[in-house]
Amino acid sequence: MQKNDTAIIEITDIAAGGEGIGKADGYTLFVKDAVIGDKAEVKVIKAKKNYGYARLMQVIEPSPYRVEPKCGFARRCGGCQIQEMSYDRQLAFKEQKVRGNLERIGGFAPELIDQVMEPIVGMEHPFGYRNKAQFPFGTDKKGNPVTGFYAGRTHDIIANTDCALGVAENKEILEIILAFMKKYKILSYDEKTGKGLIRHALIRYGFTTKEIMVCLVINGTEIPHAADLIEDLIKIPGMTSITFSVNARRTNVIMGDSYEVLWGQGYITDYIGKIRYQISPLSFYQVNPAQTEKLYSLALEYADLKGNETVWDLYCGIGTISLFLAQRAEKVYGVEIIPQAIHNARENAQINGIENAEFFVGKAEEVLPGYYEEYARKHGGETARADVIVVDPPRKGCDKVLLDTIVKMAPEKVVYVSCDPATLARDLKILCGNGYELKRVRAVDQFPMSVHVETVALLDFAL
Ligand code: SAH
Repeated sequence: MQKNDTAIIEITDIAAGGEGIGKADGYTLFVKDAVIGDKAEVKVIKAKKNYGYARLMQVIEPSPYRVEPKCGFARRCGGCQIQEMSYDRQLAFKEQKVRGNLERIGGFAPELIDQVMEPIVGMEHPFGYRNKAQFPFGTDKKGNPVTGFYAGRTHDIIANTDCALGVAENKEILEIILAFMKKYKILSYDEKTGKGLIRHALIRYGFTTKEIMVCLVINGTEIPHAADLIEDLIKIPGMTSITFSVNARRTNVIMGDSYEVLWGQGYITDYIGKIRYQISPLSFYQVNPAQTEKLYSLALEYADLKGNETVWDLYCGIGTISLFLAQRAEKVYGVEIIPQAIHNARENAQINGIENAEFFVGKAEEVLPGYYEEYARKHGGETARADVIVVDPPRKGCDKVLLDTIVKMAPEKVVYVSCDPATLARDLKILCGNGYELKRVRAVDQFPMSVHVETVALLDFAL
């Protein structure tokens, strides 16, 4: 097949990125927006030797799994990839993704996977779940300020203030900001020229507390006529924090390094389970609190703590999992690379009166081996003990040095929380080649309508 060729194909599989996969005369095509089960007319847009990419031209016979998207921009927007697939089918796809990686990359036998895998944890209402949104600002052809989302893989802004994954309040807030900009002729930032003031609006919502935060990211040092903007924003029930963050750099990084309070306080408060968190504009905080609670509860269940354990929580962020674990353990050590996050973790421990959690700034693959060696030196070669080690690494998974140290410390249990099933499978293979046994695996859908999937796995030391 060549570029611009068209074909009618059956979509028989789903790629990791959510694209439909089908074959035209034995040649594999990846088709964005095609749903498994569709019969569709497609046009090749890029042809490689063994496979190609095609555009969905027309659905000839819709798949039984095809649903009407909730958002009119579902196809163009880069935020969602599989909104046109029924939610049940999305869940099956994600579960299969985890299973497939465990088999192919992890080398685990299908029978073992059948034994250890538990059904994916989905959402009852898979929309409106995000507590955080960062809306970029731009200018339309008529010169009016617009805000919305980047189209997939580009920085073209699709004007949409009403994202189906976000909270209803977003729209009202964004419209107030746009009206304010029009009134005072305040311009959106332009990436190409580096001119214009308003870059992004960060909105956060506490699902439990109903508190709202608005932080404007600006290319300048102040917002003119800010009092006028504040007056309108504080009419919205729950408004708690209005801030701005200066980011004058020509970069894709959204936030500046710090923020200033315009009105109210510099943070909002929210809960995951019983634990209370203060969330500033710069804090990392899980975006789907309902599913996060399920995910952490599962990690806690897998850890099966009795109260006398020493636990490590590696890649701990703001200490979310650590504080969950600390409720049931004797001692929890958290390790995280970002100093600000550790600052928040210590604060969060204090707010919740948790005294048995201690936090270290540094790379997990340096802090844990360092602790291990130091301990041996101080205790005549004795091995540092841990009962449970929890890891929750970024997509690239755990460093080999870290896995080696975990094996040396030989905790009874390792609980692996993962946001990428491919690196999870790779790391589990290493641990299981060194005395661990895979006991339980469960996927949790933290990001409905996207292709991402979180997984929790439990490993027991086999000896
Ligand atoms: N467990 C936390 C955060 C998980 S996200 C939560 O559930 O909220 C992964 C975290 O790992 C991020 O906070 C990131 O800053 C941190 N990180 C990335 N590389 C790291 C490394 N080499 N060592 C320690 N932490 C790291």
